Order: sequence, then C-alpha cells, then structure tokens
Amino acid sequence: MKQVGVIGGGFGGIAAALRLRARGNDVTLFDRLDALGGRAQVFKKNGYIHDAGPTVITAPYLFNELFELFGEKLDDYLDFRPLDPWYRFNFHDQTQFDYGPNREEMLEQIGKISPKDVDGYLKMLKEANAIFELGYQKLAGHPFHKIMTMIKYAPAIIKMRGYESVYTFVSRYLKHPNLRQAFSIQPLLVGGNPFQTSSIYALIHSLEQKWGIYFCMGGTGKLVQELEKLMLRQDIKIKYKHDIEHLSTKNNEISELHFTNGLSQKFDLVISNADPIQVSTELIGKKKISLHNAFVNKFAKHSMGLFVLFFGSKKQYKNVAHHTIWMGPRYKELLKDIFDHHKLADDFSIYLHRPTCTDSSFAPKGQDSYYALVPVPNLKGNQDWDKIKEKFSNKILDALGKTIMPGITENARDIFSMTPKDFKSNYRTPYGSGFSIAPILRQSAWFRTHNQDDKYKNLFYVGAGTHPGAGVPGVINSAKVVENILYP
Ligand SMILES: Cc1cc2nc3c(=O)[nH]c(=O)nc-3n(C[C@H](O)[C@H](O)[C@H](O)COP(=O)(O)OP(=O)(O)OC[C@H]3O[C@@H](n4cnc5c(N)ncnc54)[C@H](O)[C@@H]3O)c2cc1C
Repeated sequence: MKQVGVIGGGFGGIAAALRLRARGNDVTLFDRLDALGGRAQVFKKNGYIHDAGPTVITAPYLFNELFELFGEKLDDYLDFRPLDPWYRFNFHDQTQFDYGPNREEMLEQIGKISPKDVDGYLKMLKEANAIFELGYQKLAGHPFHKIMTMIKYAPAIIKMRGYESVYTFVSRYLKHPNLRQAFSIQPLLVGGNPFQTSSIYALIHSLEQKWGIYFCMGGTGKLVQELEKLMLRQDIKIKYKHDIEHLSTKNNEISELHFTNGLSQKFDLVISNADPIQVSTELIGKKKISLHNAFVNKFAKHSMGLFVLFFGSKKQYKNVAHHTIWMGPRYKELLKDIFDHHKLADDFSIYLHRPTCTDSSFAPKGQDSYYALVPVPNLKGNQDWDKIKEKFSNKILDALGKTIMPGITENARDIFSMTPKDFKSNYRTPYGSGFSIAPILRQSAWFRTHNQDDKYKNLFYVGAGTHPGAGVPGVINSAKVVENILYP
C-alpha cells in the first residue's frame, strides 16, 4: 500500500483517486476549493441552480467503470437521461438544425439544407469512425510518455491526415457553410480552434454517435456528489480548502506537498490534477523542471477563455432545446480574433444551456435556468473583465432577445457571470483558459505534458493539460493512463 496524494478534485483527480484506491493504496485528495468537481462547481441563486462547467455527458460508460471498480452500480445512484436533440443549432441566417440520435431525421434535415451533403455526411461519418477507432479506442487510455509510442503511431496519424484541421476534414465532405460549422465546432468543446485543431478530434463526432449525449438528472453537480460519496465509502480522504503552494523535491522525486496554510505532507506518489503549467512554473519552479516540460511551457498555445453568463428566467422558453449552439455572423474570422489576436470582437457565438428542458428542479416552478457560454480571448488579451463584464452580459441577453428568446432582457433574473479572470483565480489556470493548453497536433499525445513526469518519477498528471486532453471523457481517461503506467 502506497501513500498517494492527489492535488485537485476535478474529474481527472476524482477518477485517479478512485482508481488508485481500487488498487489498494491509501489515497488523500486535496483541493483549494470547498467542493469537489473542479470546473464542475454548482451555483445556486434564489431558487435557480446552475452547473458552472460541463453539462454534456458523453461516453457515460466511463462513469459506470468508476463505480464498478468497487463492485457497485452507477444506476443505483444516478439517472443519466438520453437527450434528443443533442444540440439545436440556430444559425445567423435564422435557420435551425437539430443534431441528434435519429439518423434518418438528421439526414432528412441535412437534405433540406443541402441535398448533395447527405452522401457527404455519410462518407464523413465513416471516416470519423475510422479516426475514432485509432484516436479513441486505441490511444485515449494508452500511455504516451515514451517517444517510442509516438514513433509507433505516427505513420497511422499521418495516414489519417492528422496534420489537417477538423474544419478541412469536414469541408472535404460537406459543402454548405452552416453544415460545415455544425460539424466542425466540436474542438471548441475541448478548447481548440476548429481551423487549427488536428482532424484526429473529428473522433468526437463518432463518439457522440456511438454512445449518445446524456444529462445527469440533478445535474453534473449531482454526479460529483455521488462520486464524492463513493470516495468516502472507500475511505479516500478528501481535504477541502487545501491549496498547494509548492512541491519540494529530493533525488528526482517529489518529497513533500506544502500548503499555503504552512503545513506539509509526504507521499510516495503524487498525482497532479492541477494544470501542468501551474505545476511547472509555480509549484516546482521553472529551473527545476524537465526539458520536456520546459519546452511545453515555452511554446504553449493556451485554449481560449470563457465568459459564462448565468441567469434565471421567470418565463419559460419551451422552444429552446436543452443544448443550443447560437452562431453569430462570423466563424473563421471570429475564431482568429479569439485564438490568435486575443481580441474581444463585437460579435460572438453562444452555447446555451437550459437544464430546465429536462429537469424542472433547476428553477422555481414554471421558470427556467440558463447559462450562456461565449468563447472569448484568454487573459493574454489583457481585457479588463471587471470593467466590461456587465456590458458584455447585456449584449448577450440582447442578442438572445432579438432571436430565440424574445423578451429575455426583461424576464432575466439573478444575473451573474464568470470571466477568464475567475477561471484563473478559482482554478489557478494559467491565463484563465477554459481548457488548459489547446488541442493542436504539436500539443497532442507525446507532445503534451506526459502523464508521468520525465524528471520526478513519482509525479503523475491527470486532467485537461495532459494526455489525452480536455473534456470529461478525456480527463477521466487520463486517470486510466496513469493507472496503466503504474500497473502495466
Ligand atoms: C464552462 C465549461 C463547460 C464545459 N462543458 C463541457 C461539457 O459539456 N462536456 C465535457 O465533456 N466537457 C466540458 N468542459 C470541459 C471539462 O469540464 C473539463 O475539461 C474538465 O472538467 C476538466 O477536469 P480536470 O480533471 O482537468 O480538472 P479541473 O476541473 O480543472 O479541476 C482542477 C482542480 O484542481 C484544483 N487546483 C488547482 N491547483 C491547485 C492547487 N495548487 N492546490 C489545490 N488544488 C488545486 C482546482 O481548484 C480545481 O478544483 C467544460 C468546461 C467548462 C469550463
């Protein structure tokens, strides 16, 4: 039995704690916040409940597996409901497209938008399935800390044109601009610009098709709560409000965790769910890190920031689906402003979450609860968020009011927001980015921070900043990767 210390209680840290406990280790998890979940915090205001982070559950089997580690069943504690549609797209030209589980219905809609794209879609799906077989089924849970693994898989990645972007991949099969947008936005869900993210991430489309999209009744917060109870049933120690200030090192090992309250604790193994760049620059110190991590830090391209507007509505908008993607007038140029110029443009696109579509407990009776998530520049853009957030919030409500939610500017209640500045201060995320470093090819697999540190052999990484990457399935798989390294 080893003493294992886990830094951070996001989904990556939770999954790692459970997996290492199931292997018989003595596990303690620390988080600087007063609740588990990391980005999956829950906010409550005057009867309106908001999941602050992930809302779209894909690959639900990954959660089943965590319960099964201890001979338990997820269904005894949680109710995952399949959604239909998965996403409703509202395009700038006022047209709508429902993306969902019914293939026939979807093809019919594609045919109405652009008849010649029906065949193209089917060909694209076939290709995405092939990418999924390699990129997800074979590699997502596979350790990539050795260069030989990268060399082994490089020919297959090149053969699949992993050097192309998701947008280029999609455009090869689909011609209509709205469909190109709808089927290429997936990288944004893991922090990447579709015009720069490797086409390997087209696997997300296949992943959605294979397992569907679910909502956890009670929200992601309920999911975190049940995972927390599972951890406590298994005697995992959880220490809230424990902020790790630095890690001391000895003979190429992490010897001790030091907390901001002046205390410290020794562990045999340390699993970091904190952002790897925070670990390198703040917890260990730039001068003491491996060459690989120095390289990752120096050339890091961070994911975008997120502006998340939370509000209730005394009126229900029943035409608004559970998940809506509201597209603004520009696509490629807007993404360039956000990712490359770090400029806050006048226009934007929105992902709108309406949990009350599926679960009425999120708002007082007969009302709605929402969050509107808008990709914005990360803190490299130097925007003064405290100054601009109110104006920006009003712009978002105005835009929704003029399109899919008439009257929302008057009906909205209990409005508040999270800006990239909050992401930095809450989660200690470099540049307040939404998803750690971006999922571009030169930051994927071996090129990401390795799941086992090159220099400190008892230090392991899980979460969005390591392999395989951001998104709930990614970070839960990262814990599997660490388990596979420790127990080959
Ligand atoms: C608004 C939003 C919506 C999203 N929607 C979806 C979605 O619908 N579906 C999906 O699959 N993904 C979604 N994602 C992405 C997904 O939520 C994240 O990629 C994933 O949850 C990150 O998990 P993680 O394991 O990396 O940990 P994080 O959630 O980043 O948590 C890390 C934890 O470590 C703690 N920590 C950091 N440093 C220290 C320290 N020094 N000492 C102590 N504690 C520390 C932090 O406080 C935090 O609690 C969304 C993300 C956001 C922000």
